Amino acid sequence: MGLLVTLPGGPRLEAAGVVTHRSKNFILHTDDGPDRAKKLLEQLERMLGIVSTYWRRPNRHVIECCVVKDLENWPGGKLPPLAVKKIRSGSGVTITVKRMQGNAFFAKSIVYAVADTATTQHEAVHAYCHQMFGSSGPVWYSEGMAEMGRYWANDGDRSVQADRGPIRYLRSIKPPPLKTLTRTGETSDGWQQYAQRWALCHLLANNPNYGQRFRTLGFSLLGQRPGASYLAFFGTMNREIEFEYKVFLRNLENGYRVDLCHWDWKSRFRRHREGRTVKVKIEAGRGWQASRIAVQADRTYKVTATGQWQTEADAEPVDADGDGKGVGRLQAVIWSDYQLTRAVELGTEATFKPDRDGKLFFRCGDAWGRLHDNTGRITASVKLEPR
Ligand SMILES: [Zn+2]
Repeated sequence: MGLLVTLPGGPRLEAAGVVTHRSKNFILHTDDGPDRAKKLLEQLERMLGIVSTYWRRPNRHVIECCVVKDLENWPGGKLPPLAVKKIRSGSGVTITVKRMQGNAFFAKSIVYAVADTATTQHEAVHAYCHQMFGSSGPVWYSEGMAEMGRYWANDGDRSVQADRGPIRYLRSIKPPPLKTLTRTGETSDGWQQYAQRWALCHLLANNPNYGQRFRTLGFSLLGQRPGASYLAFFGTMNREIEFEYKVFLRNLENGYRVDLCHWDWKSRFRRHREGRTVKVKIEAGRGWQASRIAVQADRTYKVTATGQWQTEADAEPVDADGDGKGVGRLQAVIWSDYQLTRAVELGTEATFKPDRDGKLFFRCGDAWGRLHDNTGRITASVKLEPR
């Protein structure tokens, strides 16, 4: 990339094998090789592009990073003790010094990180926030957003791209109450808490039900506006968000698209009249979709599905029975009081008898991380059978 210029480091650092590299928005001191340094700067620039677009503020202050491959190469006293401690533990830290210049405040952040792209990206989000806004917000927001930055590689890619360990962990837990997770001043710093915060920020930022409000909340938190908090902004929607958070964690995998799977809270649901048929269109490339049918316990419903859809860009179209492995089969679930029943496989023709009253949702059976390349839709005709 043309914008990368490598400059010789200061005499002391250079002698020790630490070289300074520059790009448009970053100064990077590292003992890592020049090719890796160049690649890191490219990735940091790409991530900063996404970050500054999200917060609608182009970066104005160079972000300085010390990226350490081997502490032996760094002259004693060059790195602050906290940075050395964090690097020894395989992570990083961002240290910010704030000053007043006349009436204007000025913050200078330095990133210290192990020679690992994800860690440096995480810390660089903190540095950007501190230098541009004077704060990176309360812990849940600051760390949740920095963890998002850790995985940001491509502009416009909203799919989950996370490490396997956190994904496995998040799928296995009972989700914490969001009131607890977003408590201000919460400082328990295990990777588990980081994963939970990441999942919440990823969900809120990418879900069309909440994305805009979440961004506004973010500006208030970064600006340290009094009274700004998760509960102040989302308290009235907390049950809906906790439900979507629970569903997100349960189905979490790489490739998952929150924007394709957000819950439909707006559609109105009605009870069927006996003998009448209601037609529902179901997209292959979405999560659970509202049928607008309020089903009743112990009544029998007959479903007939027509049409075809594809579960991969080049796959053979299949009907609502799906392929030989059941991929592409029509499924149903019932929502009742923020709980979901187990998914029921329907196919082209089926009858089912709900064991509770609730709202009926349909989807095309496919891996949750692979909905984005699905195309087509089928029509399900749902009939309430006479008693
Ligand atoms: Zn952090």
